[in-house]
Amino acid sequence: MKLDTLCVQGGYKPKSGEPRVVPIAQSTTFFYEKAREMADLFDLKADGYFYTRLANPTVDAFEKKLAALDGGTCGIATASGMSATLLAILNVCNAGDNIVSSNAVYGGTYNLFSVTLPKYGIECRFFDPDDTKENIEKLVDDKTKVIFAETVANPTIVVLDFDKIADIAKRNQVLFMVDNTLVTPVLCRPLDFGANVVLYSSSKYLDGHAVALGGCIIDGGNFDFTKTNRYEEFLKPDESYHGLVYSSLGNTAFGVKCRVQMMRDLGAIMSPQNAFLTNLGMETLALRMERHCENAKKVAKFLENHPKVEWVKHASLENNKYHELAMKYMPNGQGGMMSFGVKGGCEKASQFMEALKMIAIVTHVADARSCVLHPASTTHRQLSKADLDAIGIADNLIRLSVGIENADDIISDLEQALNQI
Ligand SMILES: *Cc1c(COP(=O)(O)O)cnc(C)c1O
Repeated sequence: MKLDTLCVQGGYKPKSGEPRVVPIAQSTTFFYEKAREMADLFDLKADGYFYTRLANPTVDAFEKKLAALDGGTCGIATASGMSATLLAILNVCNAGDNIVSSNAVYGGTYNLFSVTLPKYGIECRFFDPDDTKENIEKLVDDKTKVIFAETVANPTIVVLDFDKIADIAKRNQVLFMVDNTLVTPVLCRPLDFGANVVLYSSSKYLDGHAVALGGCIIDGGNFDFTKTNRYEEFLKPDESYHGLVYSSLGNTAFGVKCRVQMMRDLGAIMSPQNAFLTNLGMETLALRMERHCENAKKVAKFLENHPKVEWVKHASLENNKYHELAMKYMPNGQGGMMSFGVKGGCEKASQFMEALKMIAIVTHVADARSCVLHPASTTHRQLSKADLDAIGIADNLIRLSVGIENADDIISDLEQALNQI
């Protein structure tokens, strides 16, 4: 099945007489007649459900659909995008290990890596995504367990150079994890370009309507844990799980460990209700992404030509620094997120935002409704001008998430607000 068909049909196939639409299995636990049946489930000898913290049919349908879209071997749905990143990292890192990450990552991820993980002995080494392969590779040592980046980073709109980073990961046999939230598998499949694990905040385009928080970890099944000594824990029996040796599971080693060990102990599950809503949203994902991209392209062009706009960043623009990379990895569309600067700095940026009538000021991005945010006065207000400069956030930067309304209405709202400053 093609991607747009999988969005509609993937993950769930009812048997005769069962509900046509994936039902909400609103139950913490599942019934079995024989003790033996349950024991087999615990031993991973049989497939099935016994407790919703580990697996639930509604959540399972969502995981299967997303894994199919990405071409991965399995998915693990989580309570949020942040918990997807946390569980994926903890699945391979212990105290004393390190991760090497692009500095162009979501604010929450940056905080997790720079402040919270170090408290537990996991160090993060940040690289500038525009730096050379040689310089980035110097950060990798024998304690490095993950190389991390985002396909398109928010709000700086940096596009990942997959070949450059995948090559470092491959040469050093380190897992390459990619947060694909702002692109979705409809526009780019990181596993096709050398990633080993793909992460999502499903709270954004996957849900698409801003109704359900969630996340997902996709195991690419393309990393052989037996070929390196870097991941000892995958090679030794897990005494906390009947002596299971995860590497013996082959192409689901990462995913199964994440579920039976990380999810068992940390419990950041996606609820069946949220899986249902996200799954419903995903039925129109391919259609919505097409419109988001088409609208964003028109809006970026409009802003680029407006006299009160100092600069615009969207990879669809031919003079954008990342245009060539975007054409290589996401030729069918570059997503609905962009940033731009109005002339006159911070004050004019605030004035502009307040003059908007339809486009709302919210902290969310990537849903059906167009919205804006001014990071310098909101999400990043605790940072000094020097700090903002260092991470590429100008004080006049406005982040715009272009929705699926009619492009003319989005543009006329932007235009009337620009006319007022
Ligand atoms: C929103 C977001 C996250 C965090 O997801 P939550 O669902 O809000 O926890 C992670 N990565 C990216 C790129 C995001 O946009």
